[in-house]
Amino acid sequence: MQVEAATDLEFLPIVKRYWGFDSLRPLQEEAIRADVEGRDSLVVLPTGGGKSLCYQVPPLVRDEPAVVVSPLISLMKDQLDGLLACGYPAVTIHSGMGDVAKRRALDFLRTGACRLVLVSPERLLQGTFLELIDRLGVRSFSIDEAHCISHWGHDFRPEYRRLARLRQRFAGCALHAYTATATPRVREDIRRQLELEDPLELIGRFDRPNLLYRVVPRESAKRQLLEVVDRHRDEAVIAYAMTRAETERLASFLQMQGVRAEAYHAGLPKEERQHTQERFSRAEIQVVVATVAFGMGIDRSDVRCVMHTAMPKSIEHYQQETGRAGRDGLEAECVLLFSPADILRWEGLIEKSAREAEAPEPVIEASRHLLAEMRRYCSPGRCRHARLSEYFGQSLESDDCGACDVCLGECPDLVDGTETAQKILSCVARVGQRFGIGHVVGVLRGLENQQILAQRHEQLSTFGLLKDHPQKEVTNQVYQLVDQGLLSRTEGDYPVLKLNPLSVEVLRGQRAVQLMPAVTRKKVKKTAVEAQSWEGVDRDLFERLRKLRTELAAERGVPPYVVFGDRTLRELARLRPSGRMELLEVHGIGEKKLADYGDVFLEELAKYAAADPVTPPPSGTPDADAPPASR
Ligand code: ADP
Ligand code: ZN
Repeated sequence: MQVEAATDLEFLPIVKRYWGFDSLRPLQEEAIRADVEGRDSLVVLPTGGGKSLCYQVPPLVRDEPAVVVSPLISLMKDQLDGLLACGYPAVTIHSGMGDVAKRRALDFLRTGACRLVLVSPERLLQGTFLELIDRLGVRSFSIDEAHCISHWGHDFRPEYRRLARLRQRFAGCALHAYTATATPRVREDIRRQLELEDPLELIGRFDRPNLLYRVVPRESAKRQLLEVVDRHRDEAVIAYAMTRAETERLASFLQMQGVRAEAYHAGLPKEERQHTQERFSRAEIQVVVATVAFGMGIDRSDVRCVMHTAMPKSIEHYQQETGRAGRDGLEAECVLLFSPADILRWEGLIEKSAREAEAPEPVIEASRHLLAEMRRYCSPGRCRHARLSEYFGQSLESDDCGACDVCLGECPDLVDGTETAQKILSCVARVGQRFGIGHVVGVLRGLENQQILAQRHEQLSTFGLLKDHPQKEVTNQVYQLVDQGLLSRTEGDYPVLKLNPLSVEVLRGQRAVQLMPAVTRKKVKKTAVEAQSWEGVDRDLFERLRKLRTELAAERGVPPYVVFGDRTLRELARLRPSGRMELLEVHGIGEKKLADYGDVFLEELAKYAAADPVTPPPSGTPDADAPPASR
């Protein structure tokens, strides 16, 4: 593809100069070109795919201002910080700004030197603002998070509908729609609503090879969360929980363990949420334990782990939430704690909303379908990367991704659980199919509690059959039987376990049962991506540079990654440059950052070199079991 390589070079000098990147990511060049040539486009790139660069570069190439519509103030703020740090002339205009800041932004706009205007849809569509935009000669509008325009999407925003006016108001301008998740139906809606004219459609690959996916049976959310946080010490972690109470419970547990963690959910006061989000952005908090309310506004690119303490209700949600990990392209881990109980819980919620007729039947049906797909993802036996890609209609080249629990061989094999199943099922029969999971598990484990004694269930032949097994294990096995359809559970507020025809087959020995074994803790493995990105990196030096970065960021009141990303720090600690020209070769260092930070970092590097002259790198492969960062 010589032609492409040649054209790519056209935009690279600008990208290198402002951002310090050496190459463009897939589809970025095509997206940039569409705008430069004035053609409408619809760009679907996964989170972290680099959508922003696609609309940030063209105004520099054309040397004209452009407008970007964004739904969230926090997104605009973070993006502006990043742009200014690169020396890119940009402004934001939104309702969260004070009068002085707004006037200053408008004054700067009127000078004609500004190249990018980040604005909310409401603000953009105000009459006077539209006139100003017209006068400035803006010829390009990019709509970020464009799925918000469709009520088929997962985040419909009515104010986005009004953007349709842009087409008439600015005839001849190019319109661009950007989003990370869009089913064909949502894409069609975007095209129609925005009246895109023969748009260039660029649909990226959904696989994120730098993410390591793990699905682990849930034993104790607290303990398992702490284990994961421990392996990511000093690194950003987002943990999702199903309920508000759960987020608070887990966050305060982590705090008691000395982890800088905060809860985040829609029930907290707005200021508190904003404060938490900002502190997370500035790396003052390590872990945010959140409901799905958290994340849309998170631009932090160095999130090293996204953990789900329960199964989400759709793959779209999962993809979006895990998409917040490793946006800088470096290794990151996504851990999902799974229990069959999660499925029952979601099913219960879907049934409830069906009963209360909160949603029309097709929507209920769709939720069931989405849930079934999510559950399929959680079952072992197939590469997680492959499953996710297939869900979005794409296939992977290799069957062995090397970056999921299945391919790394971490998944426990299913074991023959026929005998256990028979014990459980006969206990359900013995208690007369009139009790719920807790009671049945109690009888099996031989508990002599009030309810069991009152029912005289301590006299049953199944009493204490699974005496030596922990409660969590037996409960989980019961859930597995329900999940496999080998045991039924009634609906309603007090669900009761009942036998069904399949249960009878199991009891008669006509059907074998496979169960997931109780978890045996294994050593977690490392992916090739991770080993590679740390190869040759001097860890002590990395830590020193990281400290320097934190200090500089605090001085300037910006998040650390705005100074330099992790990838830049690792390269610095690998290459150990000693001059300004060498610095420019490093990923993420453009002219502005060289001017701002070059000398300070060179000084630190020189100090380190004086104390520790460069030794030749050790031969052989890097230590695969070394911790992700020296501690
Ligand atoms: P998206 O909006 O698609 O989720 P972003 O635009 O925020 O993704 O980009 C994600 C990260 O990738 C950012 O840290 C950005 O600086 C980086 N990035 C974008 N394009 C490139 C590139 N061509 N080379 C290296 N890094 C890039
Ligand atoms: Zn795999």
